[in-house]
Amino acid sequence: MNTRDFIVNDIENSRDTYIGVSCRIWDHPELAFHEDKSSALLQDMLKNAGFTVKAGVADMTTAFVAEYGSGSPVIGIMGEFDALPGMSQRSESVEREPLVENGPGHACGHNLLGTGSAAAAIAVRHYIESNSLKGTIRFYGCPAEEGGSGKAYMARAGLFHDLDAAFSWHPSRYLSPWMVRMNACISAEFWFEGIAAHAASAPWMGRSALDACEIMNIGMNYMREHIPEHAKLHYAYLNAGGTAPNIVPESAGLRYIFRASNVEDALDIRSRAEDAAKGAALITGTKVTIKYSEGYADYMPNIPLTKLMGKAVEEVGPIAYDEKDYELARKIRASLPENCTNNIMWQYTGLNESEAREYFKTHVLYDRPGKFIDTVCNAPASSDMGDVSHCVPTAQVEVPCYTIGTPNHTWQMTAQTRSTIGQKGMLEAAKCIGLCVAKLFEDTDGEILKSARQEFDTQMQGRSYVCTFPDTLMPPR
Ligand SMILES: [Zn+2]
Repeated sequence: MNTRDFIVNDIENSRDTYIGVSCRIWDHPELAFHEDKSSALLQDMLKNAGFTVKAGVADMTTAFVAEYGSGSPVIGIMGEFDALPGMSQRSESVEREPLVENGPGHACGHNLLGTGSAAAAIAVRHYIESNSLKGTIRFYGCPAEEGGSGKAYMARAGLFHDLDAAFSWHPSRYLSPWMVRMNACISAEFWFEGIAAHAASAPWMGRSALDACEIMNIGMNYMREHIPEHAKLHYAYLNAGGTAPNIVPESAGLRYIFRASNVEDALDIRSRAEDAAKGAALITGTKVTIKYSEGYADYMPNIPLTKLMGKAVEEVGPIAYDEKDYELARKIRASLPENCTNNIMWQYTGLNESEAREYFKTHVLYDRPGKFIDTVCNAPASSDMGDVSHCVPTAQVEVPCYTIGTPNHTWQMTAQTRSTIGQKGMLEAAKCIGLCVAKLFEDTDGEILKSARQEFDTQMQGRSYVCTFPDTLMPPR
């Protein structure tokens, strides 16, 4: 049996188990850092498949590493399983119908992501065993992708340092190896403390924390002209100093987000913001406290590994949908705005822009074959896979799991991540990653991993991984 058929059959043989686990994670949606049941379900599945599991890694109770085999190469597959607040929705219902009012829901499909990645790791484990191949396969149970930077904590703890390659995927609207760079994104809070006073009878006794915020913002808004063009900064008031204009505000605070195409520029802008905050405090006679939050490094796709993923995607082939899938997809599409396909990246479809736009408009499910397109584009989004890509050569694949045009983090997404549309995507992802990783274990000379490492060294230019937040910031639970 060839490698493709081995991996595809291995996953198909356990499809009921994988679908069952993804449904149970969906049925118990858990928020970032609190994914106790979801994490335990995946740990049990991997233990039953012969993996050794180490849980509670990197100071996160729901983070774990499952391992099989020994020696080189060491290949990691990442899986997520956190849900989103307020996204509860009845499965396959095509109007807004929360199961739990304001409850969490799998509106990013991480129930599929975690299970599909674990299925890939299990297939690879069977492949290396039955071919007596050397090496180690690891599955990383990664909590808190949604805003919590779980993988950044894991990177900071050095959990990826001995990997030769890392892989992941994400539920998507199309099938494509992920040749996209994503932005670094970091944030910080600036809290000013002044002195309250009566604004009419003794304002000279007061020191305004609100003035400090406003002066900081003025400085930052002037700074916009003098930051790299690819960088962006955004701010929001966390506390605008109260509601009474006749009291000099004693306390006020801001949250800033700094984005840039590389983590060094984002960190540099944050440090200039710290100076602006200190300046504002000096001018106003207030004190400033800076609180750091989690952040993401920029994501760098490793080209040789992404190319290998492309080969796997081509060999596995497109997803076959049936009439029931199309019927649900047509109803979901009808619930979305008419222009819902306008923003979809077309570059990785193998079509030109107008053909791709037409395809997205006239097709509700992506039934085209995936292929490697040798073009790197930039996306404004960020992910904690960025931190992984700064530790080890990394590749990802996007796999269709929902109706074309469905925005991430919407009830329409939750409605589809327990449907056969989502489940077909999950099994497809497991096959693509499983086959790609099996090819690395087959490459006993390590030629692919050598070129992947070379590309990684070029990207890193002698830099080593830098976590965007300080060692004193610990996971919240
Ligand atoms: Zn996601």
